[in-house]
Amino acid sequence: MVVYDKYEAVIGLEVHAQLQTNSKLFCGDSIAFGALPNTQVSAITLGHPGTLPKTNKKAVEYAIKLGLACHCDIEKDNYFARKNYFYPDLPKGYQISQHTTPICKGGFVTIKTNGIQRNIQLNRIHIEEDAGKSIHDIYDDLSCIDLNRAGTALVEIVTEPDLYNSEEAYQYITELRRLLRWLHICDGNMEEGSLRCDANISVRIKGEKKLGTKVEVKNLNSIRNVKKAIDFEIKRMIEVLEANGTITQQTRSFDASNDTTFAIRDKEEANDYRYFPDPDLAPFHLSNEYIHQIKNALPALPQERMQQYQLQLGLSEYDAAQLCDEIATAEYFESVIAYSKHYKAIANWMFGPIKQQLNELNSSFEKISLLPKTLADLIEIVEEGKVNFSIASSRLLPILLKENIHPLTLAEKLNLIQVSNNSELEKWVDEVIAKMPDKVLEYKKGKKGLIGLFVGEVKKLSKGKADPQKVTVMLEEKLNKV
Ligand code: ADP
Ligand code: MG
Repeated sequence: MVVYDKYEAVIGLEVHAQLQTNSKLFCGDSIAFGALPNTQVSAITLGHPGTLPKTNKKAVEYAIKLGLACHCDIEKDNYFARKNYFYPDLPKGYQISQHTTPICKGGFVTIKTNGIQRNIQLNRIHIEEDAGKSIHDIYDDLSCIDLNRAGTALVEIVTEPDLYNSEEAYQYITELRRLLRWLHICDGNMEEGSLRCDANISVRIKGEKKLGTKVEVKNLNSIRNVKKAIDFEIKRMIEVLEANGTITQQTRSFDASNDTTFAIRDKEEANDYRYFPDPDLAPFHLSNEYIHQIKNALPALPQERMQQYQLQLGLSEYDAAQLCDEIATAEYFESVIAYSKHYKAIANWMFGPIKQQLNELNSSFEKISLLPKTLADLIEIVEEGKVNFSIASSRLLPILLKENIHPLTLAEKLNLIQVSNNSELEKWVDEVIAKMPDKVLEYKKGKKGLIGLFVGEVKKLSKGKADPQKVTVMLEEKLNKV
């Protein structure tokens, strides 16, 4: 039997995130996904001689935003370098990247696994351009090339070898993706390739300081696959070592059809990329003032807000996490709490009926037209008992999601105001009791659970307007008396 517990895994992740700039990193070509192949390819993208690239300021700003959100040091004196290698989908024969001066250094991303919080240390975040795409599955005997993606702005976020199992890796990417989306700098869509992850994995005997030989697994197009690939590799490498084998430093690929990895090439020695500063691009200096300006404009980050919601508003960790899953949700919530102190009710409304109806309308909190004040008013009339929750959510909300009316006015117009007036309630209650003599008898004989049935009948008769609590009390009184 193989003793897996003797070993410890060490993981470092390299994540490429496509920046949501309007145009490419060094020219005005569009980066829209799904365009016809090779239609977003100017002479600069194609690397024609005599063309001059120009740095996209937005890309630099986005990288700084991310760096600040990850507590990195921002490099003030930057330049771009040419990383020379030949690749069919790299039309220039070199990739423009940052070399000795990544724009962000150090920093960390905070994750939580099994209730324990930990900072995953980053090595760096740098800016670089994406390559095009080779497509091998259209023709048997030909490969196709689509250069639309070539030159798209990327940030590469590189961790230290500071993750120790697949669950940590899973949480790390989830948190990183939330941050990227929160800052509106990347859509985080792994299936479309706007977020890509390479996992570097090694194992060593527990207590050993020196890192083991690593393998790098590429082509991980979902967070779940990152997890599966890591688990597979850890097991595979331990088994190799236990059989007295040695680990070869390799680049491997993940096969999603059977959750395994396979070697694509051995890495005998480091490539010589012959880096040198790109002579066509001026080095760029970032002033303290500029960095501060970006820092001041950063929104409150998800973990910060989650804490506030728990400590200051008394919400559960679960509710806080749901609210902070996306910035649009948190912002909507905050716009409602400006008008209402029913924090828990707001969260319940948002993740209950509102979310459900937004889904049906193919909408979202980003596009919601229900004014925060209107939702606050709706919650208020429910809390005051003027309209009950089920009527408010099933009858009023669908209308309020489309037009802006005061919820109380609407409830009055539709004759949905809850009736708590005793004499009106009594009429319904008496009618129900008179209608169901055999049930009344059963109740009296001890089948107390029937109370729900009576309440339901009153509800029906009143078209949902009877105050259920009062009705219950009144029914119990009468049934126990008759
Ligand atoms: P390479 O030059 O092969 O790309 P780097 O030193 O740049 O290697 O590291 C790439 C990633 O691999 C980083 O995230 C780093 O933390 C991780 N890494 C490096 N060595 C190991 C190792 N022995 N085990 C696990 N991860 C490692
Ligand atoms: Mg690498």
